[in-house]
Amino acid sequence: MCPFRAGSAYGRGVAIPTTITCVDCGGVCSLISYEPDEGWEPGDIVAFRCRDCLDRWDVELTAEDICD
Ligand SMILES: [Zn+2]
Repeated sequence: MCPFRAGSAYGRGVAIPTTITCVDCGGVCSLISYEPDEGWEPGDIVAFRCRDCLDRWDVELTAEDICD
């Protein structure tokens, strides 16, 4: 079961996290990367920016992050 299914849906039916929790301040980090034309794949690097402390987080997608 994908922990990120709720609230994260993209046109191609592939879902990845759209927000993560900031490791530093516990705030909400929003996805700032755009979906590639071919869709998300494991190994893609997606960037998030924290709304509170503005830290940027680069996260490598794993198969567990991608739900279809
Ligand atoms: Zn933060």
